[in-house]
Amino acid sequence: MTHRKSSARGPQRTCVQCGAVREKGGLLRIAGKPGMGWEPDPGRKLPGRGIYLCSAGECVERFAARIRTPKGGARWKMGVGGTELADRLVASRQGGQEK
Ligand SMILES: [Zn+2]
Repeated sequence: MTHRKSSARGPQRTCVQCGAVREKGGLLRIAGKPGMGWEPDPGRKLPGRGIYLCSAGECVERFAARIRTPKGGARWKMGVGGTELADRLVASRQGGQEK
């Protein structure tokens, strides 16, 4: 195998955490606008820009940990909303259990 072409079965997006390119169905979308707040968008229906993360694996948890830090939050201009989004992402990954 010298040259592998990616199949063009659908729109593809890049996971912001690990850089993997996947079809949209394999990624969790977070919708929002810098400075306006972000929220998980599993149905991919919300307007605004999208941040994409692998829906399987550790990318969601790692991204959540990242945006809890001021530097990580600043990357997407999340401000204090980054912590709340991180909580929601982790909670949704744990089957909606809240503590
Ligand atoms: Zn990923």
